[in-house]
Amino acid sequence: MIPYELRAEHHPGELALTRRRWHVVRRGRVTGLCGLLLSPVGETGPLAAWAEVTQALRCPGCWKAYRGRAAAA
Ligand SMILES: [Zn+2]
Repeated sequence: MIPYELRAEHHPGELALTRRRWHVVRRGRVTGLCGLLLSPVGETGPLAAWAEVTQALRCPGCWKAYRGRAAAA
């Protein structure tokens, strides 16, 4: 089982779903691999969905950190 999942970054007052950015978090955690604290009630998704997330909506810090960890595991 992959111990990571996606978690959406919600901006206050942001309504457009497409303007959200997605972060990678350890399953059950609310802090992204980039160090950003995310909303505990924010939307989550399976890590597999990351491939379908447009580049612009991926958190570059999380992506880089995740790739580094995956390579080290
Ligand atoms: Zn991030």
